[in-house]
Amino acid sequence: MPVTLVPAQTIGSDRLDMGFDRPSKARASSSPKIDYDGHFREAVDRLHAERRYRVFADIERIAGGFPQAKWRKPDGGTREITVWCSNDYLGMGQHPEVVGAMTDTAKRCGVGAGGTRNIAGNNSPLVDLERELADLHGKEAGLVFTSGYVSNQTGISTIAKLIPNCLILSDAFNHNSMIEGVRHSGCEKRVFRHNDRGHLEQLLREAGDRPKLIAFESVYSMDGDIAPIEAICDLADAYGAMTYIDEVHAVGLYGERGAGIAERDGVMHRIDVIEGTLAKGYGCVGGYITGSAVLCDAVRSHAAGFIFTTALPPAIAAAARASVRYLKRSKTEREAHQRQAAQTKAALDAAGLPVLATDTHIVPVMVGDAELCKAAADHLLEHHGIYIQPINYPTVPRGTERLRITPTPFHDDARIATLTTALVETWDTLDLPRAGTIFAAAAE
Ligand SMILES: *Cc1c(COP(=O)(O)O)cnc(C)c1O
Repeated sequence: MPVTLVPAQTIGSDRLDMGFDRPSKARASSSPKIDYDGHFREAVDRLHAERRYRVFADIERIAGGFPQAKWRKPDGGTREITVWCSNDYLGMGQHPEVVGAMTDTAKRCGVGAGGTRNIAGNNSPLVDLERELADLHGKEAGLVFTSGYVSNQTGISTIAKLIPNCLILSDAFNHNSMIEGVRHSGCEKRVFRHNDRGHLEQLLREAGDRPKLIAFESVYSMDGDIAPIEAICDLADAYGAMTYIDEVHAVGLYGERGAGIAERDGVMHRIDVIEGTLAKGYGCVGGYITGSAVLCDAVRSHAAGFIFTTALPPAIAAAARASVRYLKRSKTEREAHQRQAAQTKAALDAAGLPVLATDTHIVPVMVGDAELCKAAADHLLEHHGIYIQPINYPTVPRGTERLRITPTPFHDDARIATLTTALVETWDTLDLPRAGTIFAAAAE
């Protein structure tokens, strides 16, 4: 149908409605009626039936009051609550230097980047941020994306696609963004059992001389366990493979300058590509990869998810850079973070709650049932003003549903005591499994 220009004076709702209605009614009379919304209703109903329909808590964070927030209840009322499941692991989202960098830059440069990196959007704070990140990880270059998700999805797919006949070796517990990156690459892939270096070696050996990319994470955020990075680097060297690590749950939190587990373990220089987020430990938004100058240049030039989207705005880039810079020099937050996480684990364990022993800052408390997990979370929010989002399938395997608690330096000992009491009351009221009863399910 040719496009007809509507004269300005005829643009009123009545005229437009008439214009669009007539042809669609004509079509309806000759075609069978399709219930499009019915498909969406079914899709949602399936989730309800499986007890994994997601409900988002409507909250407003309070700057200067972290981890307190205002919860807007479904009934319209509001209540102040304590957030115990934020990935703003160090509370950097409210740090005065970070907030100051964002507001100052917004006042100086305005909001919005105004374009893609190629067309008017490449802003100086963003260029500085990439230099800061390359320095953080000891790499030649860095490349920033709109999120950590995008950096994995478009980063892995582009890198692998540019290597002819590349085989991707992917850890079984990799995040969805990495799985999507592997899928989009169109390359052949083999999945190795989670953190299993023996299985990885077997797959490397079977692959022979072809190019290989090993994709894995440092901290796995649901079980809070850590990859054997050094062993994986040894294997990569022995079998001539490239390495790509997701340090999303470690940047800002581990290592002398907050560069992550690879820095802490002294193996950062052995990894080809280090990926991270600016949204978790750094408290802002955005994602990135760091690596050799030529690799970053190639991704910059070929990755659709980098090229065809508006750049991160200058104010966000400046805030993220302030956060990265601050955490390069300050260890206070990292130390307090580890101390409060250990304190939380000890308190919950002493109270007989089924807390998963982890090597990291993540404190999973196992429930093992989707409905009960949701009921526990609802009870904590409504009766105790404690917000912990239930973690259900497909984020974790069925039967290992859990409350994933993330203490920060701002979750002081008094808050930990309040949390412990609230969890014990919830476990009693809902008759939830105690320590020891479901660890077998979680471990398999
Ligand atoms: C959250 C997460 C991402 C995505 O990062 P965003 O910046 O939130 O998009 C990537 N990898 C892992 C392991 C994550 O948990």
